[in-house]
Amino acid sequence: MTLQKAAGKMEFGAGAIGLSISFEGIAHTYEADHTRTQALIDINFTAGAGEFIALLGPSGCGKSTLLLIAAGLARPSAGRVLIEGQPVTKPFTDLGFVFQDATLLEWRTALRNILIQAEARGLDRVAAEVRARELMVQTGIAGFENAFPAQLSGGMRQRVSICRALLHNPPIMLMDEPFGALDAMTREQMLLDTQRIWMEGRKTVLFVTHDIPEAVLLADKIVVLGPRPGRVLKIYEIDCARPRSINDLSRRDLVELQQEIRDVLRESGAFSRTA
Ligand code: ADP
Ligand code: MG
Repeated sequence: MTLQKAAGKMEFGAGAIGLSISFEGIAHTYEADHTRTQALIDINFTAGAGEFIALLGPSGCGKSTLLLIAAGLARPSAGRVLIEGQPVTKPFTDLGFVFQDATLLEWRTALRNILIQAEARGLDRVAAEVRARELMVQTGIAGFENAFPAQLSGGMRQRVSICRALLHNPPIMLMDEPFGALDAMTREQMLLDTQRIWMEGRKTVLFVTHDIPEAVLLADKIVVLGPRPGRVLKIYEIDCARPRSINDLSRRDLVELQQEIRDVLRESGAFSRTA
């Protein structure tokens, strides 16, 4: 599929096919007030079309920076990003972004928060509302269309932000520690729902986390990043059929894998620094 075709694919409903994302020799240094912070160095990996990739690493290792670079919102100091083989040279807008904070407008209802995406993109209002309502059903928040954010739990607010990110049916989802602020039980449910939604849509997902079990549960591949400047320590492929359950994390091979990832991070000094 060409980028033009993908970018022009704005119809609602059937899932847009994921696009591949390649990072080639990415490095990034922030310069502010005569201070240089090297955030990333020598990042090379590919997220295949429709793959779920977890970016796992300690706080401050450049995970969020890498997502901004993937979206063309930050220019890397070195290297390039390719989406379906084409270099990203300006913001790539056919994607959905989910942050740790749901970033909802408090004066808009849940439904109207989701529809912000349609307004920003000039999408057909009627079709967008049909799609928004469908997504609310799919993500388990049907019935809360007219609720205001203040009336929703943290998990429900995050579900609204996921619906907003999915509204235009983008081929790529960038998720930056989306469940980091949620309590353990809500988070577990959100992880399973994320898996189900991904299985239905097969978008390419870059999912940032510093939680090892979360990465193992969700990902096809885990890209483990070391402390700043973030570099790829290791890439693991997770060999476990979907749908995966929380119990799968207790499988002997997956327990060993989690232990190995912990060791790799520990050896890199990830646990001995504060960021
Ligand atoms: P992570 O998401 O893994 O916690 P970030 O990508 O947010 O890491 O940041 C990586 C490093 O770059 C950190 O040391 C952070 O302080 C620094 N940094 C991030 N954004 C900026 C910025 N806009 N200006 C200067 N330094 C920044
Ligand atoms: Mg971050």
